[in-house]
Amino acid sequence: MFWADELAASATGRQVVNDSKTPSGTVHVGSLRGPVIVDTIARALRNAGTDVELRYGVDDLDPMDAQALLTPDAIERFMGVPLAHVPDPAGDCHPSYARHFAGAFVDTFDGLGIRPDVYYWMSEVYGSGAMDRYIRAALDAAPKIRDIYRRVANVNHPDDWHPLFVICETCGRIGTTIVTAWDPDAATVRYECRPDLVQWASGCGNGGEVSPFGGRAKLPYNVDWAAKWELFGVTIEPAGKDLSTKGGSRDRSDAVAREVFGNEPPMNLPYEFLNIGGRKMSTSKGLGAAATQIADVIPPEQLRLLFLRPKPKVAIEFDPDGTDAIPRLFDESDRLAAATAGREVRGELPPDHERVFSYSLVDADADVAAEAAAYRPAFSHLALLEQIPGVDVVERVTAEKGSPLTTRERELLEERRAAARAWLATYAADSARIAVHESLPAGAAELDEVQRAYLAALAAAHAPPSGEGWQALIFATAKERGLPAGEAFRAIYVTFLGRPNGPRAGWLLASLDSAFVAGRLREAATAGAPA
Ligand SMILES: [Zn+2]
Repeated sequence: MFWADELAASATGRQVVNDSKTPSGTVHVGSLRGPVIVDTIARALRNAGTDVELRYGVDDLDPMDAQALLTPDAIERFMGVPLAHVPDPAGDCHPSYARHFAGAFVDTFDGLGIRPDVYYWMSEVYGSGAMDRYIRAALDAAPKIRDIYRRVANVNHPDDWHPLFVICETCGRIGTTIVTAWDPDAATVRYECRPDLVQWASGCGNGGEVSPFGGRAKLPYNVDWAAKWELFGVTIEPAGKDLSTKGGSRDRSDAVAREVFGNEPPMNLPYEFLNIGGRKMSTSKGLGAAATQIADVIPPEQLRLLFLRPKPKVAIEFDPDGTDAIPRLFDESDRLAAATAGREVRGELPPDHERVFSYSLVDADADVAAEAAAYRPAFSHLALLEQIPGVDVVERVTAEKGSPLTTRERELLEERRAAARAWLATYAADSARIAVHESLPAGAAELDEVQRAYLAALAAAHAPPSGEGWQALIFATAKERGLPAGEAFRAIYVTFLGRPNGPRAGWLLASLDSAFVAGRLREAATAGAPA
């Protein structure tokens, strides 16, 4: 069974799936794994007939803690201030820093078909008073929470530390304050805004006594997390491996849920990272491509597939610079479509491949059979066609399909053409970029007799109509003539591209005019031959 369906099969009753994010800086492609996983779980639950709500929280009361994200003149003023209170660095397009960057990830999610039932903003949730009872419970249980931090995570807070961050009334910072006392009868806390509490921001030195309610303060990350579970009735919340380690964030929040709020935490489904080009992608370190940048090269359907096909606990190794990682991703997506449409495919299929394919679709309500049956020209083939002057790609693809393209097929084609062009301009290896020589390259004179005879045999064969057909012919002919495949491919590349390597030869020949191919093969077969 596919992992998300397996999870859905084990769930009973109404489910609330939750995820959240701090809206700081760019969304990196690696950070999309979590959102794709929660969306897939919600879809699987719906498929299983379960009543489900997908919630996505924006942690916009979190303090600004990265200087690199601010302009130099804003650092002094805004480090430590809640993201919801920092102005939009891009000008006036949004009311705050948080709204600007959350807008970017909401758009990214939407493009991937991740459409939570509810987006909620923690500044609003705290402001509405909905968190007040958890703030009171946490302050009442301050000694217990200090004990949980000590016991579960080996973090020692001083005895007067209270689990709350007040927004300083003087300077507006939240990252620099510490609550040192709680008076449950007066319902006030005493706090100090310390210049040296954290290294990344400097508090103003003031302090006072305030009510902690109605948006004037926020709970620390782990307590806040457990409070959200309570408030929204969360039943499933997958967390990244970094949060799911022993004694890590998730353990602390689990302990707070059980011991302070008296409830079982939601089901966790720890997920691994996406390792891009062998390096761990981390949003805070700013490694890896921006999601918007990778979206130019990998359409949403293929990007969803990249994240959802492996089990969450399996790390994904993905190197977009690799010779053919991106074409392979398209090929795999096409293979699943073909298998779902009932066509025979090569290689092993994942269990429930139809479900894997359907979850990769952007539109959760799409007609899966129609999507699977749509004509999908191979990415590598399109990448070649895009480079050959004078080719009418639409006409060519229509001829290959053998009937007019439907509106949806035209859409798929244009999406892929744009991706292929973006790929050629960015990640594609040099071997994927081609320049077919207008006349026989000089290097063809170096071909040996066996290679020349091989090319003559190819020229004499009936030209196959497709890249796959050519690829098969290239292999079969080489085998017949006892020519190692490497030598056979080299002969073809030298003949057309004037170099010993290139993109998949079958697709290269299929993309060229067949009379031109036959003529060039014959020419190379006789070049340098004794007169
Ligand atoms: Zn202050």
